[in-house]
Amino acid sequence: MLSMLMNVNFSDTEDKWKWEFELDGLFSVCSAKKIIDSSLLTTGNIVTRWCRNVPIKVNISMWRLMWDRLPTRMNLADKDIDILSVQCPICNNEFESSDHIFFKCDTAVQLWRRVSRWCELNMPASDNISSMLSWLESIDAHRRRILEVIVYATVWCIWRFRNGVVFKDSNMKKSIIFESIVINFFQWFSSRCKKT
Ligand SMILES: [Zn+2]
Repeated sequence: MLSMLMNVNFSDTEDKWKWEFELDGLFSVCSAKKIIDSSLLTTGNIVTRWCRNVPIKVNISMWRLMWDRLPTRMNLADKDIDILSVQCPICNNEFESSDHIFFKCDTAVQLWRRVSRWCELNMPASDNISSMLSWLESIDAHRRRILEVIVYATVWCIWRFRNGVVFKDSNMKKSIIFESIVINFFQWFSSRCKKT
């Protein structure tokens, strides 16, 4: 032990704490916040979208869908939550992932086709939300303003219908999903969209 201590020089200065996450060794709340945020908050190259023409709850649902954070049965199973089935509650044929419930399930496919006919547009068949939003971004700003609300309303109504099936809400019928999309679109667009 003495030989180990032979080369150690003790300083006369007082002992002090050192914050190792900064070069100057000084602690700050800002520095601690950065460390905590970087480990807790999700990061990635997904740009957060905010559509001013739909309610906040719809924007939040879309944000959760973009990050695949909606509580679909597959997402619940991934978190080791004990659920009876991971099958799609609507068709019962496939696992219920976000891509399936919103884009690949027969009900969703038919709905997007109907929305496409209603808009008199050739909406490309999308497999997931990022390709749908990429298509939206490729459209001119004037039409995008309207179509964005329609896409958000469609996603919102599919999710509400799905929840109606899961929680056995008898008011949620497949036959009224399209009507709900149209009603939501007109309500949101007429009350929120500034006339230009
Ligand atoms: Zn399905």
